Amino acid sequence: MANSALLSGKLLREYQTIAAMVEIYCKAHKHNAMPVSECQECQKFLTYARTKLDRCPYGQDKPTCNKCPVHCYKPHMKEKAREIMVFSGPKMLLPHPIMAIRHLLSGRTPVTGKPPANQSNRHLRKQRDAQ
Ligand SMILES: [Zn+2]
Repeated sequence: MANSALLSGKLLREYQTIAAMVEIYCKAHKHNAMPVSECQECQKFLTYARTKLDRCPYGQDKPTCNKCPVHCYKPHMKEKAREIMVFSGPKMLLPHPIMAIRHLLSGRTPVTGKPPANQSNRHLRKQRDAQ
């Protein structure tokens, strides 16, 4: 999906991890029996997740979502994210072992207080584009 090109580094890896989990979830739930790339429900969720990653005030130092003090997801999107992670998280180890292990390890990084100013991917991207 072209719009993941907005992200880089840790944020891109996190997006790819979520996308892999959504794919497992979508297949298992046979959302209209379509490939995930054509599943409107899942694509809507991924677009939302990407926007949130882009705007995360921690930027490249983003903690994992369940440790994050900033509650940026709308309640029903948060519930969906939780559902997808609970379902797909344990199934990630076989198809995507490196992503799965990275995800587990990054869950241990302690959260460093308040988010820094002007570190979101979106902010830095706009600064780069302005030059
Ligand atoms: Zn789906």
